[in-house]
Amino acid sequence: MATNIVDINACPNKTISLSIHVVLDTAGLALANPAQIQTTVTTLNQKFSPMCVQFKICNYDTIWESLYNQKTAEKYLTEMTTKYNIPNTINIYYSSSVSSLWGSLDGSAGLTASANDKIRMQNLLFRDFMIINYSDLTTITHEMGHFFGLYDTFDKPSGIAELANGTNCKSAGDSICDTEADPATFGATMVNCHLTSPTKDANGEYYTPPVCNLMSFYPAGCVKYFTPEQYNRMLNVFYTKRNYLW
Ligand SMILES: [Zn+2]
Repeated sequence: MATNIVDINACPNKTISLSIHVVLDTAGLALANPAQIQTTVTTLNQKFSPMCVQFKICNYDTIWESLYNQKTAEKYLTEMTTKYNIPNTINIYYSSSVSSLWGSLDGSAGLTASANDKIRMQNLLFRDFMIINYSDLTTITHEMGHFFGLYDTFDKPSGIAELANGTNCKSAGDSICDTEADPATFGATMVNCHLTSPTKDANGEYYTPPVCNLMSFYPAGCVKYFTPEQYNRMLNVFYTKRNYLW
């Protein structure tokens, strides 16, 4: 398994088209404007530049059906995406609501969605689809990480917790070895991106959680980086599963 981005032969040098869909609220207001969204895309591009993938807003529309700003049940998402999706682009809908169906997956476009959402992801309409909640436009970078196959650093799809010493890193946790084991202490008190009450793993060793990783849930002021292995996985997903994108 590749452990460094240079192991992935070839920089794709690809610019992927984004279709931005701003869903108005019940008062007819757009809760984000083009400049605000472009700012987040600029940051997104900085974070993805090491893997030679960039994103460009190619379509920008406003959806005057506030129903879609309130309801995110699959029925409504199906309607909305049928009407507004632009094929072969990443369709990003901005909304105020996150339904219980989709839970915290406010950008559940990923190949790594929860089991429930994975079933929904089989619907082709949702393949190139993402919802970003107006309350935090910057999550676009994190959600794009999911879109290209990354798990949250604290996730454990195999059900096995990663040990602090990393010996089971390939099969446990997020199954990426250069992200430290993350005990999901993101609600804990932090000072200067440091957990004030460090926790220990099953071996009694201190965790050193990846508080600066973009796929963690640590404060926005701390998260800044993807790791080489994360880039590798995203490149692999780009080449094998997302290479149809314009
Ligand atoms: Zn996530």
